[in-house]
Amino acid sequence: MQASDYAGAMSIERNWAGNLAYRASSVEHPESIDELRELLARGGRVRVLGSRHCFNDIADTTGILIALDRMPQVSEVSPAGDAVRVSAGLRYGDIAPALEEQGLALANLASLPHISVAGAVATGTHGSGDGIGSLASAVRALTLITASGQTLSLARGDEGFDGAVVALGALGVVVDLTLDVEPSYQVAQHVFEKPSWDAILRDLGAVTGAGTSVSIFSTWQQSDVADQIWIKQRVAATRADARELEAGRAALAASLGAAPAEGKRHPIIGVDPEACTDQEGVAGPWFQRLPHFKLEFTPSAGAEIQSEYLVPRIDAVAAIEAVRSLADRIAPLLLVNEIRTVRADDLWLSSSYGTDAVGLHFTWKPDEVAVRELLPTIEAALPASARPHWGKVFTLDGAETRSRYPRWDDFAALVARHDPERRFVNEYLERLGL
Ligand SMILES: Cc1cc2nc3c(=O)[nH]c(=O)nc-3n(C[C@H](O)[C@H](O)[C@H](O)COP(=O)(O)OP(=O)(O)OC[C@H]3O[C@@H](n4cnc5c(N)ncnc54)[C@H](O)[C@@H]3O)c2cc1C
Repeated sequence: MQASDYAGAMSIERNWAGNLAYRASSVEHPESIDELRELLARGGRVRVLGSRHCFNDIADTTGILIALDRMPQVSEVSPAGDAVRVSAGLRYGDIAPALEEQGLALANLASLPHISVAGAVATGTHGSGDGIGSLASAVRALTLITASGQTLSLARGDEGFDGAVVALGALGVVVDLTLDVEPSYQVAQHVFEKPSWDAILRDLGAVTGAGTSVSIFSTWQQSDVADQIWIKQRVAATRADARELEAGRAALAASLGAAPAEGKRHPIIGVDPEACTDQEGVAGPWFQRLPHFKLEFTPSAGAEIQSEYLVPRIDAVAAIEAVRSLADRIAPLLLVNEIRTVRADDLWLSSSYGTDAVGLHFTWKPDEVAVRELLPTIEAALPASARPHWGKVFTLDGAETRSRYPRWDDFAALVARHDPERRFVNEYLERLGL
C-alpha cells in the first residue's frame, strides 16, 4: 500500500478546522520504529499527531509532536480473513478500498474517511447504527511504543486492553492496530425530508432502527420538524427482503409526515451535495455509502467547530427535548445538528461504555467564542449522563467529565503504569485530572 498522504497536505501548525495552533516545539517524522525510539529517548513531553481532525487541544503539547506519515505503511489481512493489521497513521480512506479489493469490509465508518485510524480510535470516534459499535470497538489488538521505548502489545481479553484502545493518546505511540473485518457488503442510502419531531420522539427506536445506520439532521430553524433523515441500509439478500425493507421505510416516512428527497442532499441545507456519498437508493460498496462525505472532497462545511454529547439510550428523548427547548439560542450559531446511535462496548473511556448510546452532534459556525459561551447552557440542560466527545469542543470541567466514566480511576492507573513520568500528559489531560 502507498504511504498515506494525509500529512503531506497538512499545514502542521494548525488543526484541520484551523481553530487551534499547536504549540509543539517541533514536529518529528520518524521513518522506523528505531527512529521513533530515538525520539522518545530524548525525554521531555511528547504527543502523537494523527490527521489533525480534533477541534480541541487533545493532540497538543509543549514538547514534540510525532507524525507517523513517514513510517512504513502496512495493511495486512489475517490468514483467516477476519482481521486486518494496519499502520496507525493510515486513514480509513486508505484502507477501505484495499479491503474491498479483497472482498472484505469494516462494520462501520465515521461521517468522513479522511481521519487516521489511530486518531479516530483514540477519541472514541463513531458512525451510526443501533447494532454497530464505535470504530474503537472494531479493534482486536494494538501495538504501542511507550515513553520508555518499550513495545506493548495488547489484544482483546488481555488485562488493560479495554483501557488502552480509547486512550486519548496518553499511553504511548500506537504504531499498529488490528481491526475486525467481515465479508464485503453493499449499502444503499435513502434521504427523507421534514419529519415531524413529535412523531420521531414518540418512537425514536423506530426511526434509528429503520436502517443499518441512521442519522437525523436538524438546523433547529423550526422546532416542529427536523430537516432530514438519512437511512443507510445494507442491501437485502433477496428481492422479497428488499421489498419488505422498502415498505417499512415508506410506512415510517408516512408516520413521520416525511417525504423522500427529490435529488441528492448535503446534511447542511443549501450546501452543494457534490461532496456527499451517493444517495437516492443506489446501492454501492460499504465504504462509499457509510461515510456522508467522499474522500476526494472537503467533508462537512470546512469552516466550522464541532461539539457532541452521547447519552444512554434511555435518556435520549430527554436530551433531544433539552436541545429543542434551546432551539432559539442554538439555531443562530448552528450549521447542523446530527443525531446518531452507537452500540454499547466495554472500552473504559468509550462514550458508549456500558450503554447503548445516542449522540447529539453539533456542527457550529466557526465562532468559537460564541460556541463556548453557549455550551455551558446546553451541558446544564442535557441529562447528567451526557458524555462529551473527546475530540470536539466542550466546557464541562474535568471532575464532572471523569465522573461520567465509571472506569476513569482504572484508566489513570494504567497511564501511571505505562507513563510514570507523565510525558504524554498534556494540558488537556491535566484539565481532566490526570
Ligand atoms: C469534518 C469532521 C467530521 C467528523 N465526523 C466525525 C464522526 O462522524 N464521528 C465522530 O465520532 N467524530 C467525528 N469527527 C471527529 C474526529 O473523528 C476525531 O476528532 C478524531 O479523533 C480525528 O482523528 P485524527 O487522526 O484526525 O486525530 P488528531 O486530532 O490528529 O488526534 C486525536 C488524538 O489521537 C491521538 N493520536 C493520534 N494518532 C495516535 C497514535 N498513533 N498513537 C497515539 N495517539 C494518537 C492524538 O494524540 C490525539 O490525542 C469529525 C471531525 C471532522 C473534522
